[in-house]
Amino acid sequence: MKDSIGLYIHIPFCKAKCYYCDFNSFSDKNESIKPYFDALKKEIANYSAIAGEYEISSVFIGGGTPSSVDAQYIYDIMKLCQNSYDLQKDAEISLETNPGTLSYDKLRTYRECGINRLSIGLQAWQNRLLREIGRIHYVEEFIQNYELARKAGFTNINTDLIFALPGQTIDEWSHTVRNVSRLQPEHISCYSLKIEEGTVLWEKYKNGEIKQTEDELDREMYYFAKNELKEHGYHLYEISNFSKQGYECKHNLIYWKAKEYLGCGAGAHSYFNGIRYNNIYGLDDYIDNMYNGSIIENEIAIDQNDRMAEFVILGMRLTKGISSIEFKKMFGIDIREKFGQKFEELINKGLVKYEGDRFKLTDLGLDLANMVFVEFI
Ligand code: SF4
Repeated sequence: MKDSIGLYIHIPFCKAKCYYCDFNSFSDKNESIKPYFDALKKEIANYSAIAGEYEISSVFIGGGTPSSVDAQYIYDIMKLCQNSYDLQKDAEISLETNPGTLSYDKLRTYRECGINRLSIGLQAWQNRLLREIGRIHYVEEFIQNYELARKAGFTNINTDLIFALPGQTIDEWSHTVRNVSRLQPEHISCYSLKIEEGTVLWEKYKNGEIKQTEDELDREMYYFAKNELKEHGYHLYEISNFSKQGYECKHNLIYWKAKEYLGCGAGAHSYFNGIRYNNIYGLDDYIDNMYNGSIIENEIAIDQNDRMAEFVILGMRLTKGISSIEFKKMFGIDIREKFGQKFEELINKGLVKYEGDRFKLTDLGLDLANMVFVEFI
């Protein structure tokens, strides 16, 4: 039986740049769409020999806003993947989308080329907040697009939300969570806003126009989501991710379980054959180098020590934590021999607990996860 890997495909185009966004995405490069897809197809085809030795268990087409480009581009990419790689029959194939860029025809095209999971970026239910973070859509478009997606046959939908937005009240956040959970998407991601350098919000923050949300309110919002979503049938399976049973994101689980995957496109990261590497970020550089030179910008070999640390740091993001039995199977040594003292300290601080054969974060640990992870770096 072949081993399985995941495949990530990056589409870096957006209609406009959101004020909080530091992702590798561009809103002023429409003339590069066609050459970018040509280069991307070349990269996907280049991998076909090695990728063919594996089964692809998930494909994640992310961005950027993949739904902002003509659906035919996505269709062609998917057909190329199906012809070049060994996609598992039940492979999870996700597409990231944003309200205001979807139509029924587009959604049908996505279904026809095998996409079976849709992620829709809503972020907040209030048009006032959507404007303040530079989103291109109104909540009404989200509702309409969500309904169109159901009509087009999507039975696995994620909705992305952000809390701790500047000036956002707990009532606004409660309203967002309640309204989204009433729609019953299969998966909901709730991320706490981090104001990143180089973004519009960062400038506003530096100029004193907006404030960072207080930690206390941030946590109140997180706990609200945790409790409310539980009541609506969702379980928290990763620090920021909730799902209905059986709808956990297979692709992201590959990252959290420190398993291997290939990434195609500008700035895409890969972890393959024990090496982590990433492609060139710049759009034009990626396209140029596809034909003359190398598209790989950085690579780093992951040794046994790194792998053990990654297994812990990434795996502890999952609420079910990491299994000491699995650790022993993978690395041939007892996890306590390697990290026993660290775990003991974290357990004494109330950040980690040990249940069954698993180390996992406590509620306090979920709040202070970075304090835990840093111990293993
Ligand atoms: S839609 Fe997503 S990738 Fe595009 S600018 Fe907004 S946050 Fe960034």
